Amino acid sequence: MVGLDTVLSVAGFPARHGFSTVALGSMGLTGAADPEAVIHRRQQLADHVSFDLDRALMTVQEHGANVATFHRRQPEGGQCVFSTDALATDVPGQAIVTYHADCFPILFVDTSRGVVAGAHAGWRGTLAGVATKIAQSLQTAYGSWPGQLDVLIGPGICGRCYQVGAEVGHQFAVRYGREDRYLAVDNGDVRLDLEAVLRLQLEDAGIAPERIKGAGSCTREEDRWFSHRGGRAGRFLSVVVAP
Ligand SMILES: [Zn+2]
Repeated sequence: MVGLDTVLSVAGFPARHGFSTVALGSMGLTGAADPEAVIHRRQQLADHVSFDLDRALMTVQEHGANVATFHRRQPEGGQCVFSTDALATDVPGQAIVTYHADCFPILFVDTSRGVVAGAHAGWRGTLAGVATKIAQSLQTAYGSWPGQLDVLIGPGICGRCYQVGAEVGHQFAVRYGREDRYLAVDNGDVRLDLEAVLRLQLEDAGIAPERIKGAGSCTREEDRWFSHRGGRAGRFLSVVVAP
């Protein structure tokens, strides 16, 4: 049975969405001992959030900042989209699904145009500016102004838990400045707050800070999430559904 503890939704984000937890099981097919069980779990998530799995768009992530957009004029669905980190659609009822362990899901919605986007943001994609590029793509593809967007940053590894090499921290500082907002250096240990960088990018893109929500959930610290760094091998799914 699918209960409340199997899928997290965040109150106030104005689109149907959800993040599957450990209680629902790993959603990754690659290397799965029982692929049919994985498909069954995905269907449980689809039933819980209420979307059509066959029409869903799923990413095969590249850890970059590529954005693919789909339109109701040319409906496409039930397919994997390769070499992209972010997907957007205005096809009514179409779901966008991304895979995660410690990398952040980012969900976008423009309720006035019926547009949603979903993305996967690890350090490489965040450094490449994935959040900024989604905002730009939504404007180009659908005419969605940043001021019309609501954004939800889902569960991911928090700034206290995410230790990175000094050279990684340095690249962020060079590219984005304002490192006091997202880098902490202590005795040579560098910790990176990816969610803070994503917020910076979203604000720089013109999205109102009060319309950027966070799930406030650390995948490493909380047992309910799959996490590379937390030693819980597997993948959870993030889904957002076009109105
Ligand atoms: Zn943490």
